Order: sequence, then C-alpha cells, then structure tokens
Amino acid sequence: MALEFWRQRDVATFVNPLKNWQLDEQILEFRRDPLLGHVSLFSPAIQGKRDILYPAPDYSYVRSIADATRASCFLCDGKWERMTPRYSEDLIQGGRLKKGEVLLFPNLFPTSPYHAVIMLGEDHYRSLDNFPEDLLLDAFDVAVEFIKRVFQKDSRMSFVTINANYLPPAGSSVFHPHIQVLMAQVPSTHYSRVMEASKKYYERNGTPYWKDFVDIERQGGERYIMSIGESHWIMAFSPMGTNEVVGVFPDKVDILKWEVADVRALSKGVSRVLRFFHSIGFSTFNFSLFGGPLGEGDIEPYGAFIRLVCRQNFLPHYRTDDYYFQKLMENEIMATPPEELARIFREMLEE
Ligand SMILES: [Zn+2]
Repeated sequence: MALEFWRQRDVATFVNPLKNWQLDEQILEFRRDPLLGHVSLFSPAIQGKRDILYPAPDYSYVRSIADATRASCFLCDGKWERMTPRYSEDLIQGGRLKKGEVLLFPNLFPTSPYHAVIMLGEDHYRSLDNFPEDLLLDAFDVAVEFIKRVFQKDSRMSFVTINANYLPPAGSSVFHPHIQVLMAQVPSTHYSRVMEASKKYYERNGTPYWKDFVDIERQGGERYIMSIGESHWIMAFSPMGTNEVVGVFPDKVDILKWEVADVRALSKGVSRVLRFFHSIGFSTFNFSLFGGPLGEGDIEPYGAFIRLVCRQNFLPHYRTDDYYFQKLMENEIMATPPEELARIFREMLEE
C-alpha cells in the first residue's frame, strides 16, 4: 500500500455538568503515522482547553532556577576546563573538541559506547527564541566531526543520533544548554522500527518513503513549512510528541557524507523551529536526528531526519506531558491540529 494519511472520526457522548447537564457529543479524530502507524488523537474540546494540558511557562520561575543553579554549574565561567572528562588522545588530541562557544566532551555516565555532550554556548540559560543559527552551526559541525573520527577508529559504531533535552520537564539533568551525540552498534528501538518500515515500504512501492513523503507533503501543502538547502520541514501528520516538526533530508542519508551546506540547513531549521515553539508559548524541547547506517552511503530505502517536539512547560510543580497514553500506549494528543500549526509557523516566517 502506498503512503496513506489515515484518519477516522468518532464521538464521545456524556451528560455534561459544564453544559447545564445537557447531552454533550465530543468529536474525536484518530490519526495514524503513514510510516510507523503510531496513533494520535485530536479533540476540538481539548484544543479550547490548551492551558490545562500546557499552562504557559513561568519565566520568573525559570530565571530563579537558572540563578540558583548557575554557581554550581560545571560548564559556566570556564569551569568546563577543570571539570569535564576528556577522550583519549588517539581519538581527539587534547581530549575535547572546541569551536567558538561550543565544546564537546564525553558524558560521565554514557548510555552508548560513544556518548558525547556538546555545551551549547556560554550562557547558562536561553529562551527558545535565543538559539541562534551560528551557535547551532558550531555545535552540529563539532558533532559531525566527532562522528567521523569515531567511525574512522571503530566502524562498528554505525548507528548515530544527535539529541537534545532542554530543561527539567524535557528530562535534562544539566540546566546549561547542551546537546548529545550517541553512537552504538545497536540501533535504538525507534531507529530499528524506522529502518524496518522504510525497507518494507521500498520493497512494496519501489520508491523510498522519505522522498515520497516529502513530495506528497510539499504538493499537499497543508503541513509543509519550508525548504532549506536539501532539507524539508513539515508538521508531523500524527505526532509522537507535542507540536512535532520533522526535518527531512531525503538525499543525505549518510551523515559521514554531510557537507557544510547540510549542517547549515540543519542549524537554520532547528533555530527557526525553536523560535516557533517560543512564539506559541513553549519553553522546553527534545529532538533526535537519525540517518541511515554510517558508511553505507546514501542508500535508497532510508533518509536522514530530525524530530523536534515540545515538552511540558517549566513552572513550579509541573505535570508531566507523558502519562500512560504516551508512555505505555505510545499515542499522542494533538492540542492543536498540525495543519493549523503549519499555518502559524509559515506566518511567523513571513514577519
Ligand atoms: Zn552553566
């Protein structure tokens, strides 16, 4: 079966005390991701209650926590020099990679054989409208440099992701802005599912999913946001997280072969997406970038792509956005339809 944007409507009926005990019929729309099939749900009744799901960020609280954690931060005021671990000299001379305001060093508690942390500038706190393209360019540049060095030394490390947790509701234990590179022989669960499904799609249709996906979304236009260089940025039809944006590089599968223009396209895209998240009242995010297996070239079934999602806003006693519905059922709730988000995003770019 070719690429399908499956959706189905249903109704939840109950007697509603908020509507004077009248019979209420709430419309529910279920969607499935065209590649992996994960389900997401939209309810117009929930859209009107976004503040219950995602209260606005409390920026005075954010600043108070930033102030409280700055003094003990191991990255601030040049403390990284004494306090961050180093790689061995045969991998990186001097043990760390430094470029402009960014610094790459090993994670003290790695979850992959190669698990690097990249400090994202010297500022201890940044709001999402302050992740400039040039800062991200240095960070992604250093990440790609690290990936090339590791793979040259150990070509078993063919599964790589570049990831971010920003602020505690997004899972970050370090307040200071940073991103992480993971390299392993074992792909993550999601990575495996994507590769498996991309292969199946290719076998069935004879064309790569990621190219078809970009073509269809671009023609349809409802969820398409922008193209930058060889990348295409689209609101996910059936998201895995809140406000999910997917950046696709359909012809740049092997990150080992990425050039400056590709790293720049990624940086520009991520910077704009974070600015968009800020503009619609969000303060935290996760992202993960996936490519095909390293060293296999730009092989057909695969594509490189990055998923960016918002997490719960940072405020005192925040409630997690990940409960059984997401964590165990692997569903997601769309507080705003992706088509509406894409329109708002495009309007922001025109300003
Ligand atoms: Zn800091």
